[in-house]
Amino acid sequence: MFNKNQTYEQHDNEKISFYRSSIDNLNSKDQLNSDINVDVCVIGGGLTGISSALNLSKKGYSVVLCEARQIGWGASGRNGGQLGIGMRKDQFTIEKKLGINHAKELWNLGLESVDEVKNLIKEHNINCHIVNGVMSTACFAKDIDEYKYEIEHMSKNYNFEGYKFYNKDEIREEIDSKMYLAGMLNSGSYHLNPLKLTIGLAKVSKQNNVKIYENTPVEKIHEIGDKVKIITNKGVIKANKVVVACNGYLDSLLGSKKNKFIPINNYIIATEPLGEKKAKEIIKNNYAVSDTRFIIDYYRFSEDWRMIFGGGETFTSNFVKNSKSFVTKRMLKVFPQLQNVKIDYSWGGTLAITVNRLPHFGTLMNNKLSYAFGYSGHGLALSVLAGKLISENINGNTERFKFFSDINHMSIPFGSLFRRPVYSSAILYYKIRDYLNS
Ligand SMILES: Cc1cc2nc3c(=O)[nH]c(=O)nc-3n(C[C@H](O)[C@H](O)[C@H](O)COP(=O)(O)OP(=O)(O)OC[C@H]3O[C@@H](n4cnc5c(N)ncnc54)[C@H](O)[C@@H]3O)c2cc1C
Repeated sequence: MFNKNQTYEQHDNEKISFYRSSIDNLNSKDQLNSDINVDVCVIGGGLTGISSALNLSKKGYSVVLCEARQIGWGASGRNGGQLGIGMRKDQFTIEKKLGINHAKELWNLGLESVDEVKNLIKEHNINCHIVNGVMSTACFAKDIDEYKYEIEHMSKNYNFEGYKFYNKDEIREEIDSKMYLAGMLNSGSYHLNPLKLTIGLAKVSKQNNVKIYENTPVEKIHEIGDKVKIITNKGVIKANKVVVACNGYLDSLLGSKKNKFIPINNYIIATEPLGEKKAKEIIKNNYAVSDTRFIIDYYRFSEDWRMIFGGGETFTSNFVKNSKSFVTKRMLKVFPQLQNVKIDYSWGGTLAITVNRLPHFGTLMNNKLSYAFGYSGHGLALSVLAGKLISENINGNTERFKFFSDINHMSIPFGSLFRRPVYSSAILYYKIRDYLNS
């Protein structure tokens, strides 16, 4: 039996995000008024949960989805919008860990994850403003050789020609900041409004007969014979299968699984609209950007030409009190010319980081419970893929799910008591390293 704490409440002191202001809530009318029986109950209304529900309903299962708050309340509706191929770690690191064959399977799944999102957007006409191109920008001299090596390695071993190197003059021409020594464009990646994608896919799920219960936190999951009993604040759901898709908000819902990741809070601001002309003076080709530091800056322009700038992490159970000034300081170091620009929105979200930075997939309760979490800040495309692979696994096709579930994940040393202090020491170490290397 698993029980849940309630840290998904942590955003309660927040003002509305830019993404929330850009689209109406789903406001699902479905209500859990009595105890019910279904084939599958999905827990969590982010992209992992919605994609699982959609894929399972397409296969003919009866599906309900319980979300503690609203659809897109978690990281899926709060993120930087960078829809990246690959995993959080580069391929040669993954090859060293898992061997070349496994690494190649993961690379192909990473490519498929972005294709899957693009196809869904096209098929269902979801207006989430997808734009091509994500640029990595070098903060350290060593990054220049690493970019060149990566471009060559990926071309030679993966036939991937989507990377392009930019020297110091070229990157300055592309991005109007003095911060960077070089750049590497990834033309296989995109950026978009993530909440519009999340709500768009939730609407498609409803059209496919998924019942979506918002404001319905799951408190406990019991295994009872060949069924699973899911206890919510509104009623009890008996299901043949349950999918747990809570990522950084999981807490103790899966018992000691919480020690397989560290929940990190990350913050974003959105400026007032700057207009297309000014925006393109700052990022010439409207790419999304992220840098090479451990605590990264990432940014892009929104559909209405606001600078959406993310950066800065905390690992406490509460959010920083003033995320606006926390992130604005970082933005002004990169773009001092934005000094007098108004900041219209600031918000934060929680993500799940695993020790090896690869997502953690698995099953419990004799295969009746499936879960996926720990995308380590690279989950916008992978969470949509996770839902597809979970549905394949539930439907008896286990092969592709196993490419993730076979990965061994270390627990955070000393479990829940020390995971925040352990990470705080790591952050301090890397902050000093970022500083010394710059
Ligand atoms: C600030 C920020 C920026 C990011 N930027 C990027 C980026 O640019 N690119 C990228 O690829 N990734 C990014 N990520 C990571 C990415 O957003 C996540 O990996 C991804 O959205 C995870 O989706 P999910 O559905 O698994 O989890 P979430 O979207 O977090 O959804 C989990 C849901 O579960 C619900 N829940 C929790 N407990 C319960 C319960 N007991 N009962 C019912 N519901 C419950 C929560 O309310 C929440 O809605 C970022 C994350 C953050 C926080």
